[in-house]
Amino acid sequence: MSNKKTIHGFEFYRERNIPELEATLKEAVYKKNGAKLLFIDREDSNKTFAIAFKTIPSDDTGVFHIIEHSVLCGSKKYPVKEPFVELLKGSLKTFLNAFTFPDKTMYPVSSRNDKDFYNLVDIYMDAVLHPRAIEDPNIFYQEGWHYELESADEDMTYKGVVFNEMKGAYSSADELEMEEMSSLLYDGSCYACDSGGDPVSIPTLTYEQFVSSHKKYYHPSNSIIILDGSVDLDKTLAQLDSFLSEYNEQKIDTDIPMIAPKGHVAKTINYEIGAGEDAEGKIRICQGYMTANYSERALISAFAVLMDAIAGTNDSPYKKAMLDSGLCEDVSFISYDGIQQNSILLEIKNVKEENVCSVKELSRKTLSEIVKNGIDKEALRASFNAMEFRIREQDMATFPAGIAYAIAALDTCLYGGDAIASLSFEQDIKFLREMLDTDYYEGLIEKYILNSPHSAELIMLPSATLGEQRCEEEKERLEKEKKLMSADEIKKTVERTVNLEAWQERRDSKEALETLPKLSLGDISELPEKYSFEEYCIEKTPAIYTPSNSRGIVYVNLLFDISDYSKEELLRISLLNELYKNVRTDNFSAAELQTKIKSELGSFSVGTLVGSKNKSPKIYVNVSISLLASKIDSAVEITNEILLGSRFDELDSIGRIVKQLKNSDAEAMTAAGHSAAFSRASAYVSQEAAIGEIVDGFENYLYIKELDKEFSSTGTSLCSELGKIAEKTFKRGRLTACHSGKRCDELMSKIVLLFEDSEREEFKTGIKPMGVRNEGIVIPAGVSFAAIAGNVLDFENKMHGSISVARSILSFDYLWNSIRVQGGAYGAGFIRRNSGVAGCYTYRDPNAYRSVEYFKGCADYLRNLANSGESIENFIIGTIGDSDPLITPKVLGALSIGAYIRGESYEDRKDRRLEILKTSKEDLLHVADIIEKAMESAGYCVVGGKDKIDSFGDKLDSIWEI
Ligand SMILES: [Zn+2]
Repeated sequence: MSNKKTIHGFEFYRERNIPELEATLKEAVYKKNGAKLLFIDREDSNKTFAIAFKTIPSDDTGVFHIIEHSVLCGSKKYPVKEPFVELLKGSLKTFLNAFTFPDKTMYPVSSRNDKDFYNLVDIYMDAVLHPRAIEDPNIFYQEGWHYELESADEDMTYKGVVFNEMKGAYSSADELEMEEMSSLLYDGSCYACDSGGDPVSIPTLTYEQFVSSHKKYYHPSNSIIILDGSVDLDKTLAQLDSFLSEYNEQKIDTDIPMIAPKGHVAKTINYEIGAGEDAEGKIRICQGYMTANYSERALISAFAVLMDAIAGTNDSPYKKAMLDSGLCEDVSFISYDGIQQNSILLEIKNVKEENVCSVKELSRKTLSEIVKNGIDKEALRASFNAMEFRIREQDMATFPAGIAYAIAALDTCLYGGDAIASLSFEQDIKFLREMLDTDYYEGLIEKYILNSPHSAELIMLPSATLGEQRCEEEKERLEKEKKLMSADEIKKTVERTVNLEAWQERRDSKEALETLPKLSLGDISELPEKYSFEEYCIEKTPAIYTPSNSRGIVYVNLLFDISDYSKEELLRISLLNELYKNVRTDNFSAAELQTKIKSELGSFSVGTLVGSKNKSPKIYVNVSISLLASKIDSAVEITNEILLGSRFDELDSIGRIVKQLKNSDAEAMTAAGHSAAFSRASAYVSQEAAIGEIVDGFENYLYIKELDKEFSSTGTSLCSELGKIAEKTFKRGRLTACHSGKRCDELMSKIVLLFEDSEREEFKTGIKPMGVRNEGIVIPAGVSFAAIAGNVLDFENKMHGSISVARSILSFDYLWNSIRVQGGAYGAGFIRRNSGVAGCYTYRDPNAYRSVEYFKGCADYLRNLANSGESIENFIIGTIGDSDPLITPKVLGALSIGAYIRGESYEDRKDRRLEILKTSKEDLLHVADIIEKAMESAGYCVVGGKDKIDSFGDKLDSIWEI
């Protein structure tokens, strides 16, 4: 490209290489209206498109979040109810979503299929510029909020997808902390507002404000378009031109003023804990410090290194001093970045009232001492190395690299900065490495924390009644609002509710659906992506190797078969996995060991893996290690230390980890109650799921909770048990040695020989399904999560491909409409697992009781669809898309291991793909029968606020408290 070349209205003004990404960054501006374009030109068959608008909130109504949802509900060119859902059903997309950030809204898509990519771009461009939502208020009512009133004498309620999504968010102490801290620290700027929406403020937003906000901010002059990968530039720009050409330049003031240092501010608020939970010792303290602005990229990374070095683990110096004092249960630093002025937050969790002052004093004193005495150089270097390994590895699992780059580019260019600064990293790494030998990192603590000219403090007091109080306040407010309405207004509200329901139930016309560009089965290869692994033996031990181009990295997975373990042993495995690396070994303290891992390896972790072959489940302890091939000796030494030399005799530090594990499991259950609910419901009917529940589900949580309570009396005997289990596990006779990426048999053979030889047996599990029942788990939350699960393999020999197609139909058609659209839940879906488990879940659901009723309708829905003669081709295409994830070298290794455990060959995968592609009406009718049988013998589990669980009356066999 020559200088200032113009293509389809885009004037290209700059072109630079980014060697780190093997890419060229090409920048252009659309002459007619100033829309910006960044093209990250690099080889990647997965092509990315994203358009972002700078959207600056001025209140907590969540207007931009509601717009984000609403523009995906139909547009001028594509007048169907939810093109977004049509794409979820029938596209080969590798990514399709939209994000509301504190200061921007972004619409990214990606696909490997050319035709699909252009379809996605077209639908997204039309959606953001010409949404039906600005003409049809029903979309705003559905996605944002509305009064639900079916008859004049009923109680009125609020309903809406975003409303419920944010109600769920505000129940989470972590999310509440983030919102309140931003409003303190960023007072007076857009960052003090909640762009997602505060459930109390959302119902003050009017449709007129919604429309005018779209009009003002969703203009090309306020947009940045990003392309990445092997995109046909000419064709894509022509397509963009067809949308952009109708707009003239518009001046939109979206400058965010820089906040000048404001000294220190403080605030105290309440947060929600369970109704039966003890409030003693649950105060949270959060301190926020303004740090780097968007252009100071090296500084942002420096904080990441620093925070890891001083507080990355329980044995890092700052965290250790804080925990050893006994004044708190956990501390961590969180980086708040990706905005114009970044900050770091320091969280101190679970403090007693009388200790609030002393824990704050200790924190300051500890940080001052670190500045005075310096951070251990080796530990600092280790944290730096770990960060460098991650940056160079560029492993984002199945998340498309192009989307990650698009988000990174906006970190700078949204504020007028240079995108290349946030896409390249060599220079920053060089600077940060040089600074290791100076007192630069200690200086950061001094300058930005101890002598901070701009900081804030939030004290969060636990309240067991806050949830109830919020419910009461909402009820009172609604009663008051209803009283203020005239008879005519009430009549209109009823009409609106009824009309909305009718509107929601109306299906798209055939003509409307035909406007959507679609793929056909002919666009799809009948063959799945080929990957294969080699099965062989190392030192008489079964081994598999999966080749891939991993830039010199070796990915190791040591699988130790523990299928013979009892329930008691399995309950302890998750705790054990947590303890490796965090307890001393024969030759190292925990801190020394962690420094060694970070200096020498990419990663080292221990987890559990469960998979079934011919309906018979296998359980493994899975030790994952990543390293550069030049680090063989270190990898062998560290593996030896951790797996064979860990000593479980430091009671205090083990007790501390038990407590942290209990707390983080409880938080996870509030944030992702659908996982907990589905895991438990599956365990009623499936052996494999019952194992999962013991190792990693609510059953495990109950065990850890009890352990924490009794630790002072049972700790000693527990620790000696743990040692015995570790000894029993790491034997050669249990091992399968897997590696992928760069081939390294020398390493594998050295590792295998570390373990004592033992007889190889065919271990079988004695764990049985838990048995069908219905249960409730009470969490502190204003929403609920429901799940039901049956076992298809009780009625069938295998998981036929057509069940995956049914999953797509039920998730994106039946459950989407009945539970999300009509029920106002934030999410719902159907899950099928290789283990035979199949069932439904809901997410942030206002009415779990209603949802459980709807779950029963799955089979009939499939039957009706099959008998209607409607084409299911789009569902088949979408299902194929979902079964083809993006594959990085690391993901490839994991896929091979899964296939190996299941005994699945390439031929099997080919067959399953064909079953999906050839799914017929008869197949669907058959699947409907199977799902019906599975559901009839299924139980459900509901996780939710007390009122949600109470609504089930006596239908639940047991109710648990977390
Ligand atoms: Zn949302």
